[in-house]
Amino acid sequence: MNLIKPLVLSKVVENELCVGCGACVQACPSKALSVNWNDYGFLVATSNDNSCDAGGACIEVCPFNPEPGPEYKNEDGLAAVFLGKAPIHHPAIGRHHAIYAGYSNKHRETSSSGGIATFVYEKLFEKGLINHVVTVGESESVDAHYQYKIVSSKDELPQISKTRYHPVTLASALETIKQLEGRVAISGIGCFIKAVRLAQDKDPVLKERIAFTVGIICGGLKSKFFTDYLASRAGATLSDFSQPEYRVKNPTSTAMNYSFSCTDNPSNTTKLIKMREVGDMWGSGLFKANACDFCDDVTTELADISLGDAWLPPYNQDGKGHNVIVSRSLIADQILQEGQASGELELESLAQERFLASQQGSFNHRHDGMGTRINMAKRAGALTPPKRAGKHKLPLYLKSVQVERRRTRAKSLEIWAKYKNSSEFDQHMKPELLKLRIITRLAHAIRKAKRLIGAKA
Ligand SMILES: Cc1cc2nc3c(=O)[nH]c(=O)nc-3n(C[C@H](O)[C@H](O)[C@H](O)COP(=O)(O)OP(=O)(O)OC[C@H]3O[C@@H](n4cnc5c(N)ncnc54)[C@H](O)[C@@H]3O)c2cc1C
Ligand code: SF4
Ligand code: SF4
Repeated sequence: MNLIKPLVLSKVVENELCVGCGACVQACPSKALSVNWNDYGFLVATSNDNSCDAGGACIEVCPFNPEPGPEYKNEDGLAAVFLGKAPIHHPAIGRHHAIYAGYSNKHRETSSSGGIATFVYEKLFEKGLINHVVTVGESESVDAHYQYKIVSSKDELPQISKTRYHPVTLASALETIKQLEGRVAISGIGCFIKAVRLAQDKDPVLKERIAFTVGIICGGLKSKFFTDYLASRAGATLSDFSQPEYRVKNPTSTAMNYSFSCTDNPSNTTKLIKMREVGDMWGSGLFKANACDFCDDVTTELADISLGDAWLPPYNQDGKGHNVIVSRSLIADQILQEGQASGELELESLAQERFLASQQGSFNHRHDGMGTRINMAKRAGALTPPKRAGKHKLPLYLKSVQVERRRTRAKSLEIWAKYKNSSEFDQHMKPELLKLRIITRLAHAIRKAKRLIGAKA
């Protein structure tokens, strides 16, 4: 018998471009796909059986489709459909109404940044605009700490606030939404919101049911290994810990001075480690998904509202947390304006340049380095999705940073898969991280010197 392989497996998963969103699972009319854990701690699409009909419905909704047909819409095309009324367009920020920095007086303390995500859900419930929120909370399954959940009242919202740097999938949630009565709001990182928009563009039921999307500005998807590594560094029993918290704030310090904590189940104690002691987990690309190197949506451009951390002064001096906020639909902007007028929100307008500065590291890597990474992948024989960014040519000294980061990312996954222990991991990653640090410092020094003498960086 000739077995047919679903297109997302041969084109996306086998090129390490899958983020596990699950859009393909719900789009497949033959139920040929599921999302499962791979050997490197990521959720990815897998084949159920051999029932693939070869129709390709799966790849049409995939945010990383490397060979899209003429009908496929990129972020700009989808924004024209879903956010066409937004009056301002900026090539790096996307379509929007306004940009702010601020926080919710009620939800800030129990949230990761300023609590605006939880505030917005509460207001959507109160206004009767939604009946359910599909977002990430504690998992009931033994193989995951967190998963997408459906909450149907505003009283449940405190249980699902806070940032979870943990792989999750929308596969079953998208199916459930179609059976639910009423309308829903969904939270998601950029590629997940793109998957939701692609699915809505194909499926009128999803278009009608999903009334609002909260975009979580995202610097990269971490493998489950990231959580295990942090728990191990904090001193927890790796085989038996629970409730990982990635953003434990220090209200009397700066915003960057946050910690990771978890419960060590055998001793029933809380283990905590300051992220500053762990080292650079984001710029180095440790435990990051390969697909993230081919993502140019830094600001979650397709959501009704995009929320991130206000990593810029004076907000970063306040450990209680501030959001940066981009309102992209009229209802999102109304909720913010009403919250400010009632005193429930503290908001300030933020200039475009200031907002861009809050995500500068992400733009530098994801936009400026894109062309170099696409060329590297192509030379290795891998498929990559078409990108808006990538035209920027890097000088050799900055290219070498990209090469080293890609190597560090891949090696971190291999080393953890082999040793599963933070001491061994640190020992084996030390030479790689040292090399990356030296190359990066050298590149920055050359760039600075070139700027000083007025040469093109
Ligand atoms: C993987 C990841 C990477 C991030 N990278 C950046 C970055 O580079 N720059 C930046 O400025 N901000 C980043 N953030 C966003 C930031 O950490 C906060 O989540 C955001 O500012 C919202 O804060 P809040 O206080 O308004 O949210 P809260 O009020 O605490 O609510 C958070 C909401 O997000 C939901 N949520 C939690 N984890 C996830 C998830 N993995 N996927 C979808 N929804 C989730 C929760 O269920 C909750 O509804 C990232 C978040 C994630 C999950
Ligand atoms: S749609 Fe999502 S889960 Fe399916 S292959 Fe693409 S990225 Fe992976
Ligand atoms: S960086 Fe892009 S691809 Fe990676 S998880 Fe974030 S939104 Fe998705």
